[in-house]
Amino acid sequence: MLSVLRGIPASPGIVVGPVHLLRWEVPEVKHRLVDDGEIEAEIARLHAALDKARERLRLLRARAEAQVGPEEAAIFDVQLSILDDRELANSTVALIRQNLGAEKAFDIVLLEWRQHFARHTAAMLREKVGDLVDIHIRVLSLLLDLPDHDPVDVPPGANAILVTHDLTPSLTIQLDRNCIAAIATEAGTATAHVAILARSLGLPAVVGLRRALTALQGGEVAILDGAEGTLVVAPSESEVEAARGRMAEEAGQADERRALALSEAITRDGTRVTVRANVDIPEEAEPGAQSGAEGVGLMRTEFLVVGRPSMPDEEEQYRAYKRVVQAFRGAPVVIRTFDIGGDKLPIGGFPSEANPFLGWRAIRMCLDQPELFKVQLRALLRAAMHGELRIMLPLVVTVDEVRETRQLLEEAMAELSERRAPFRDDVSLGVMIETPAAAVACDTLVRDVDFFSIGSNDLVQYTLAVDRGNANLAPRFTPFHPAVLRLIAQVQATGAAHGLDVGVCGEMGSQPLAVFVLLGLGIRQLSVSPRSVADVKRVIRGVRIAAAEDAARAALAASTAREAETLLRRRLRAELESSAL
Ligand code: PEP
Ligand code: MG
Repeated sequence: MLSVLRGIPASPGIVVGPVHLLRWEVPEVKHRLVDDGEIEAEIARLHAALDKARERLRLLRARAEAQVGPEEAAIFDVQLSILDDRELANSTVALIRQNLGAEKAFDIVLLEWRQHFARHTAAMLREKVGDLVDIHIRVLSLLLDLPDHDPVDVPPGANAILVTHDLTPSLTIQLDRNCIAAIATEAGTATAHVAILARSLGLPAVVGLRRALTALQGGEVAILDGAEGTLVVAPSESEVEAARGRMAEEAGQADERRALALSEAITRDGTRVTVRANVDIPEEAEPGAQSGAEGVGLMRTEFLVVGRPSMPDEEEQYRAYKRVVQAFRGAPVVIRTFDIGGDKLPIGGFPSEANPFLGWRAIRMCLDQPELFKVQLRALLRAAMHGELRIMLPLVVTVDEVRETRQLLEEAMAELSERRAPFRDDVSLGVMIETPAAAVACDTLVRDVDFFSIGSNDLVQYTLAVDRGNANLAPRFTPFHPAVLRLIAQVQATGAAHGLDVGVCGEMGSQPLAVFVLLGLGIRQLSVSPRSVADVKRVIRGVRIAAAEDAARAALAASTAREAETLLRRRLRAELESSAL
């Protein structure tokens, strides 16, 4: 019998609990004809399912309002209004009257509506496609009486390990976080957004657990180990005992880790390193500020938008940014403008693209929609009044993007002045270096920006042509490839030569081995997930810069990622051992 499923470690922590399967996907519907005599009963079944779906949505709405806020709860209003649209029930009933089974009739109508909305010229209607998909799944699973298909059914207080294909934004907003202790997904890699979100929520997680939904039945007890990337199914008593032992050990080390996280980030030979936190949701601000991090090196603002029916307005954004800036009491807080699109398409209404990773996204989309972008810029300029806020642009490939943004910042300031709204006019503007174009030609950016922040997740993806979210490619996704290391070295050297701060804010900065090589490449600023601060400082405090530089030189000269990783591992171990002597 299968007992251990292996995936990719995504968020540390051990949980022992029942598996809860969740199949949030449109189920397959067989063609089914009904006799004339059965038609009325089928229509009644349809209405019962629509009523039940409404009831569930109202429950979700109330819960979202209580747990997250009224803006997030509004997404369910859109779905409720679609369900209440007479046309939906009438078109389905018309097909049932032509002797189609209720589920097939509903399936056909929904597919037609989805196609129609997706092609619509009005963005407002295109935005509804995501909501239609959710309705499609919810009503069909009720009509087909499918188990495991509705997030509403996760039992309260279950301490469950949620196993699903992928944690999409729409699914995330439907989950009652009080019922879930850990997450396991079939899709994803350590830098995919499900992993980033799980770390933000502090939920242990394993991703890339391929075929988990087929291998599991649901209800069985399992041990999820987020650091090892494993799910032990139906464990023996001794395995459960061992897991509980490790949980107790981790709890016992909490004080030591806390002291380490709060200690100074200084190498053995006296070089000071700045360790900041990555913050993805405003609620993370207060715990992030207590994590030992000296400010925020990356706030991903797109999480304000995910799963929402529309973009947050200026006031809502201002409140969110202000909350983070205030929590960090004067320490720098780098807020990245919307990185929407590609793997992060959070709201409907954007045309689907053949190559979303290379598509209309991030700074491109913002610059093409200046009115939308300026809402964010105004909110940022206002929030800057409350601390040391800095603005950062994602996916930059050319200095023109920076210049156009500066122009829009001028306009945003003029608009705020006219309204007599208080704002700062001296906010720093930096760019993420996450495309090979920006890295190779970073000298073309130096005069127009105040800082560089290397986004290793995308830099690895675009340099190695490896999709960061594809579980099949996970072993090929590595920041230790000589091409990536050489690009980082080049960006650091160019930035330093022009007096710019150069930091790393991708997940690479949270990996101890990568921290070692980054120090050797000259990086002195890292932005990491708040839970990794202790591990990162352990490396910083345990090594000498001279040893890191030596190791980095050897890694740069390696011919493969594996070779670089092996030699770095050996040298880091030796360095840490020598520090313990
Ligand atoms: C990156 O690409 O490294 C990064 C930090 O941004 P994100 O993970 O949000 O794409
Ligand atoms: Mg990125």
